[in-house]
Amino acid sequence: MRKKIVAGNWKMNNDLAQTDLLLTELMQRMPSTDAEVMVAPTFVNLRYAYELTRKSNIEVMAQNMHFADSGAFTGEISAEMLKTVGVNTVILGHSERRSIFGEDDALLTKKVDTALAKGMKAMFCFGEELADRKAGSYFSVVETQLSNVLFHLKEKDWQQVILAYEPVWAIGTGETATPEQAQEMHAFIRKTIAEKYNETIAGNVSILYGGSVKPANAKEIFAQPDVDGGLVGGASLKADDFAAIIAAI
Ligand code: PEP
Repeated sequence: MRKKIVAGNWKMNNDLAQTDLLLTELMQRMPSTDAEVMVAPTFVNLRYAYELTRKSNIEVMAQNMHFADSGAFTGEISAEMLKTVGVNTVILGHSERRSIFGEDDALLTKKVDTALAKGMKAMFCFGEELADRKAGSYFSVVETQLSNVLFHLKEKDWQQVILAYEPVWAIGTGETATPEQAQEMHAFIRKTIAEKYNETIAGNVSILYGGSVKPANAKEIFAQPDVDGGLVGGASLKADDFAAIIAAI
């Protein structure tokens, strides 16, 4: 049975005091929910966030990591380092990592493999760009992203995978995929996984939607049968908005 998840990607926002304030407010406003709630603060605030929320139902995750255990990789953070500060889930393949930092499928494959080998969960992000949507190639683009990075995994590995479909044209733009567009793609993703693996794996993997989710549209998007929650950027930076989105699931 797949899980419902609402996750907040804070990106490069919130210093230590702001991290404290936002998490404190969020814990105060947290609606009662069966969904898993996750937040991804910046690396430097992970430990603090973990300690602050450890008695709550909020899981702290990382926004990225390196594939190597250690070594001459200036500015990078390893899976083991994340684990020692209480982080067991990592976002990989966010479109900003792909477009701004040049992360490609080959690199993301190594990162996913490392995260899973270290016993972490990988929240793998993927999605088409506006040009792909306009050209009508969005299904094949998404299928290629999935197959390049995930389709070498063993069946058991899928227990550690969370998918986040994030059409790039809807991220931070205020433009949201319609609930029908989200459902159409999520159903396609599940069908593609069922064909490659089987119905059980396809049915058990959580597929989140990401792209300008806000309190006003969350309920309709989350009501779609193949949408298992959301990865939220901008609206996760306000406790009231994020709490409202959690309440919508
Ligand atoms: C994101 O960056 O993952 C995201 C979905 O951002 P936003 O909600 O701001 O579109």
